[in-house]
Amino acid sequence: MSSEIIRILYVDDDPDDLILFSSILKKIKEPIYKVEHAASYEEALEKAHDHFDVFLVDYKLGKETGLELIQEIKKKQKHAPVIMLTGMNTGTIDREALQIGASDYLIKGEFDSRTLDRTLRYAIRDSQLMESLDKAAVKFRSIFERAADPFLLMDGSSKILEANPIFTKKFKIEPHSENSGLGYFFSDLIVDDISRMILMEVLSKKSELYDFEAELKIGEETYINALISIVKQDANLFQVLIKDLTAMKAKEEEELNLKKFSSTGRIARLLAHEVKNPLTTIVLSADQLQMELPENILQESGDLIEVIQRNCNRINQLVTQLLESTRFTELDIANHSINELLDEALEHVKDRIEIKGFDIIKDYQTEICNIDVDAEKVKIALINLIVNAVEAMPENGGKLYLKTYIKSKQCRIEIKDNGVGIPKENLERLFEPFFTSKSSGSGLGLTNTQNIILSHGGSIRVKSEENNGTTFLISFNLSS
Ligand code: ADP
Ligand code: MG
Repeated sequence: MSSEIIRILYVDDDPDDLILFSSILKKIKEPIYKVEHAASYEEALEKAHDHFDVFLVDYKLGKETGLELIQEIKKKQKHAPVIMLTGMNTGTIDREALQIGASDYLIKGEFDSRTLDRTLRYAIRDSQLMESLDKAAVKFRSIFERAADPFLLMDGSSKILEANPIFTKKFKIEPHSENSGLGYFFSDLIVDDISRMILMEVLSKKSELYDFEAELKIGEETYINALISIVKQDANLFQVLIKDLTAMKAKEEEELNLKKFSSTGRIARLLAHEVKNPLTTIVLSADQLQMELPENILQESGDLIEVIQRNCNRINQLVTQLLESTRFTELDIANHSINELLDEALEHVKDRIEIKGFDIIKDYQTEICNIDVDAEKVKIALINLIVNAVEAMPENGGKLYLKTYIKSKQCRIEIKDNGVGIPKENLERLFEPFFTSKSSGSGLGLTNTQNIILSHGGSIRVKSEENNGTTFLISFNLSS
């Protein structure tokens, strides 16, 4: 078996000490130590460019001390194994040496070959260990920092100790920049009390939690649905991994909306087809009756024929409306600025807004947010949404928010009101034809709006809470 060779740089200005050291070293059979000598601070620095497995540095080195040399070596090679040699056992020099990173120290004349061998080997092993720890730390820090999902470390009280950049960005919380002195607590981000209690119980029991779904707060007004996993690192340190489900849920909702829309369209076409033929027959027969019945009977019961005709017309109208509102519409496409379309739509509803004393709060992204759309149709869609908002808000105190921005290569529009909101059970039926909660509503506004937006390849979603207002979120692909 070939023995490994360990290269030592021995730095000492006293030649006698070198002779003594070499003779002790010779007694060690394995591993093989090869000594290179440097007699001064400068020579040592010069030689240190070369690779050495371990450095032995005398405390006394002419003008400069060995401590300075150790610092220089450490600057070049952070975990270099360096052993300090001292002539006396004062207790302060070695403490200083250890503080600046020397692995160990040896007192001249007081060590034999076994102690020397052990000291050298331990210094090398410690340095390798430190280096691999450093590498692992860099690796894990990079995973931590580059993770696509928010990740944080918290203590048993849920105080956030450390968080990755994506967490800081998403939640706008920088654990280290707190100025309250109290810090930020993960539990404060959890919206509902029960979820918060579950979290605190997990922490108090020092247990763990996987894929727990909860709503989290971002700032004062934004909420996200998230999957939370809590992993115990030690008794008072927990890792929290947060998976934001908002985008996924939005996508699911958009897909569901599109599916519902197409199936309603199918049913509407089928129904229209099946109803229109017999309806035409009824209308024709009624017309015929009107012409053929003798005058006296017509005078007595002619109103009934009119009732039939009127209701047939009504049915015909409804079926036509149903068809039109659920059939993809023909589009007359051109490039338009969404901000201008929104302003033009607003213009149509301006009078009603002014009479009722509503505030309009606009937050338009001024960079170009251009989309290829049928302007007239998109305006109708936007007017429907604004009218609904107006109808939902209380007189005085109503606030209508209109927002536009670009995100994920899409132009997004938010129309938000602080009106009555929509009960949960109605949310699912909102876009259905003829669904209305108003005594004289047609229930076709949202169906039409959805039709127009889907025909453009866009999407529409709603977020609403009863008594707490409603937000419609619309997105169109940006012009390429
Ligand atoms: P209509 O306005 O004729 O009732 P829509 O299709 O425009 O028909 O709207 C359907 C229903 O959706 C409304 O009757 C109302 O219950 C609900 N709705 C729509 N927008 C809002 C809103 N901004 N706030 C509260 N409820 C709304
Ligand atoms: Mg409406």
